[in-house]
Amino acid sequence: MLLELKNVRKKYKLGKGNEFEALRGIDVSFNPGELVAVTGESGSGKSTLMNLLGGLDMDYEGSIMYTGSNLNELKETEIDNYRKMHIGFIFQSFNLIPHMNVLNNVTLGATLSGLSKAEKNKRGKELLEKVGIADHMYKKPNQLSGGQMQRVAIARALMNDPDIILADEPTGALDSETSKQIIELIKEIANEDKLVIMVTHSDKVAESCNRIIQVADGKITDDSKINNEDKPIKESTKNVKKKASSLSAFSSFSLALRNMKEKIGRNILIAIGASIGIASIIIIMSLGQGIESYMTGTMEDLVNPRVVEVNKIAESSSGTTDGMPPGAEFMTSEVEPFTEDELTELAKLDGVSNIEPGFTEMSMQGSLIEYGAKETSFMILGTTSSNMTEGNLEEGNMPSTNEVLIDSSAADKLGKDIVGSTVTITTAIDNTEITGEFTVSGIYTSTGMGNFSSIYFTYDEISTFAKDNDIEIEPTVVYLLCDNETLTDSVEEEIVSMGYTGSMQEAMLTSIVSMIDVVTYLLSGIAAIALLVSAIMILVVMYISVIERTAEIGLMKALGARKKDIRRIFSSEALLIGFFSGILGVISSLIMGVIINSLTTNAFGIAIAEVVPVYMLAGILLSVVVSLLSGLFPAMKAAKLDPVVSLRRE
Ligand code: ADP
Ligand code: MG
Repeated sequence: MLLELKNVRKKYKLGKGNEFEALRGIDVSFNPGELVAVTGESGSGKSTLMNLLGGLDMDYEGSIMYTGSNLNELKETEIDNYRKMHIGFIFQSFNLIPHMNVLNNVTLGATLSGLSKAEKNKRGKELLEKVGIADHMYKKPNQLSGGQMQRVAIARALMNDPDIILADEPTGALDSETSKQIIELIKEIANEDKLVIMVTHSDKVAESCNRIIQVADGKITDDSKINNEDKPIKESTKNVKKKASSLSAFSSFSLALRNMKEKIGRNILIAIGASIGIASIIIIMSLGQGIESYMTGTMEDLVNPRVVEVNKIAESSSGTTDGMPPGAEFMTSEVEPFTEDELTELAKLDGVSNIEPGFTEMSMQGSLIEYGAKETSFMILGTTSSNMTEGNLEEGNMPSTNEVLIDSSAADKLGKDIVGSTVTITTAIDNTEITGEFTVSGIYTSTGMGNFSSIYFTYDEISTFAKDNDIEIEPTVVYLLCDNETLTDSVEEEIVSMGYTGSMQEAMLTSIVSMIDVVTYLLSGIAAIALLVSAIMILVVMYISVIERTAEIGLMKALGARKKDIRRIFSSEALLIGFFSGILGVISSLIMGVIINSLTTNAFGIAIAEVVPVYMLAGILLSVVVSLLSGLFPAMKAAKLDPVVSLRRE
């Protein structure tokens, strides 16, 4: 015996504790090779019975034995396997997947059982030949007539060579002439030792079968064998517990790709939307990184590791610097000059071999270098010290008496032949404008961008320059030359404990870098919101997709798709969307990077966006993770759909 039902009962829950008993004790058994007609009035329980036989609905009482295995005692994956390898469904409404061609519709069951593409296409074509529509295999279902669609469905039911075919009113949607042909086709199948159980309303059809079962009110009221040719009955050798192979990862991707192609416009739009968030995160990180490495790079190059810079910062009278990044006080407080006593004290420190006074004046406007008809402004007037290394001279020498050292950004404006020429410097010290003529001794590597350029004199020279204009200057910065590099850290600690501040550049750098960090994080936060919006968008679109494809999901389950397979197909879609958005995001961030860099190169002479591979990879990864997460809920919903319910919804 192939199938044996004992006292099978099915109750539908109607909510509020009400139930409806659709099957009330079914006892029946079936053999291979039988062609069984199930008849009965609408609502008598025929479809309910078919769903139980096919393992689509496992919520029943009593026992259904398949070749000796009780379906109720099988594991979920074994039931999926039962549907996939042992059952072929044929529905009244065909249930073809609209966006797949005829051949792919037929082979879907084999895709779910992991057959190779060549094998399944070969078998699919043979079956289409058999059902007489091989000419139409590349058409979409909506290009076929009803009879042709049902032929496709029959071929699909035969794909995994099942031993039971369940046909629920297979001719219910067909005209009488077509119905005849379909019935003939189904009869042929039964001749191949398959058990065919067919629900029909037509007495004529029923009488052409070799057994008629009548159902009324959830009970079998008549079971008569007719036309019984007494065929020798072969027992099925198939074992439901034998593990079938299942949907491969590759197939789930190609199914997902095919689904996505169907809604290509929508998917491109989501990918563009999602890529905006990814691109903004990448570009913000790249800008932060670019600015930071530019700053640290240039500044560290310019510092002599044996020198400790000492600054004296006036106690801030205007509020506190609490909560500000380190070094931020430089931007709000006044620098104070050093006294003679303080200089002597510093010179006596352990490890300090020499002490050099320095002077720095910063002016936001009005400081000019004039060279013939050309001129350029500068922002910082400083003094040379051991802290400045000859290695950073681009041309010429360090300045001496009557000489000035300018930096490369100023030299760019004045012409490269500037070294050795005389320039006129106008600036302000203590709010008094002073002017003098100096010979340019050389060009120093620029520490600033564009207009933030610096010029340098020796301390003696600047004193003289100021004195000529009746201004007395005092050192505003002191450079301590240590005996060797290893001592600088301890000397720096020492001066900090004495109440001084270390390197102004370093502190400013730290403060700028930490401000850049804060800004980068803030902007990334905003970009993350963009990303969140796209995540929600992906979630909504996938959710809609699940609802649109409810019937398709039900069908796949009827064909034996496991929950895992359905989840996989939808997750693959999410992953693909994420991947494409990530790629799109990387491409747009690269384009934005090029644009930003050409702008900053024009303005400041440096490229500021560093779109490094790590950020690109991270962007793609982030995109994939975000859309996988957004796809999780819809994919789970799809996997949980009840096949009976989803196939009913037409
Ligand atoms: P048939 O296929 O013979 O027309 P069905 O098996 O579809 O009948 O339905 C049998 C009975 O069970 C009907 O009275 C129907 O209303 C009821 N029924 C079917 N499905 C459900 C369901 N999901 N919930 C509640 N009642 C149901
Ligand atoms: Mg029905």
